[in-house]
Amino acid sequence: MELQDKFGRKFPYIRLSITDVCNYKCTYCLPQGYKKTPGDNRSFMSAKEISKLTKALSELGVCKIRLTGGEPTVRKDFFDILKDMKQNSKIEKVTMTTNGYRLDKIAKQLHNSGLDGINISIDSLERETFKNLTGHDRLPEILTGIKILQDLNFKSIKVNAVLLKGVNDTDKDFDIFSNFIKDNKIDFRFIELMETGDNREYFKKNHVQAKKFKEYLNKNNWLYQTYGKNAGPSLNYIHPDFEGKFGVIAPYSKDFCKTCNRLRITARGDLRLCLFGNTGTSIRHLLQNDNQKKELVDLIISQLHHKKASHHLEIGDTGITPNLSSTGG
Ligand code: SAM
Repeated sequence: MELQDKFGRKFPYIRLSITDVCNYKCTYCLPQGYKKTPGDNRSFMSAKEISKLTKALSELGVCKIRLTGGEPTVRKDFFDILKDMKQNSKIEKVTMTTNGYRLDKIAKQLHNSGLDGINISIDSLERETFKNLTGHDRLPEILTGIKILQDLNFKSIKVNAVLLKGVNDTDKDFDIFSNFIKDNKIDFRFIELMETGDNREYFKKNHVQAKKFKEYLNKNNWLYQTYGKNAGPSLNYIHPDFEGKFGVIAPYSKDFCKTCNRLRITARGDLRLCLFGNTGTSIRHLLQNDNQKKELVDLIISQLHHKKASHHLEIGDTGITPNLSSTGG
């Protein structure tokens, strides 16, 4: 079975948020730190509910799940969830997105648990700037964590940075990232800042078009690398003199949504058909018993008919997404 929408897009990939809570205060996401969504008293899905969900998803042809949040590692049962997914489901790839919190301490355990890939968010490689952006002086421990993973021959390490005016958007800043991946087998990706319900003013002041970084790549002889039809929205670049790769995620670019290959499930068990907009429904009531699996599978399939062609972010429609921590970025 394959999940497919009316535009012919396939969805082998799920972003699964396991908590809204984040311990960082990134200026563009949660500048005041995490606060409970007013009026939403629902708990986060339990490890048991997540286990049932994972099994249903693998029947729907999902072969990759990315654990995200909030910050997934703040959940006390994070490793139980990860291990269950690796050991008791047919999902081929389980990856995660993390702010790198305690990465130096948990790198080995991540590797031993069978994690297939890690995306680490590092918006600046300058310690002071990193601290000012996130509210945490944790860059050295994240870099140590990456080194530990590399020494363990960990398969797939990606670093993401949000492109921000005055923070990391000059050729000098791009050179710093470029030096970082020169001898380092890391995929480094710039994500264009997205407007959300909470960050409108910040967005107006700090948004930089991804084309600024693309121009840098062209100037420095990076080669655009094409992938297959279902490869997802990152544009990837390689260079013969570099171990690492660069990538650009440009959500405001014209055909961005044409390559969408993912659905999202929030920590409270809502299926979201897009990071933005308001399409989707709660599926949590169908995660209570094993005999609900068919109903759950049918509900997810029927919801896909509501997936829209585009996120409409370009017209400032941020839907019900106050910040990415609440949906699972
Ligand atoms: N806590 C984890 C982390 O920091 O990677 C996972 C959740 S976080 C919401 C996922 C990613 O979304 C991070 O790379 C973060 O920088 C990015 N992000 C958050 N808000 C964003 C925005 N408004 N525009 C673009 N990227 C954003």
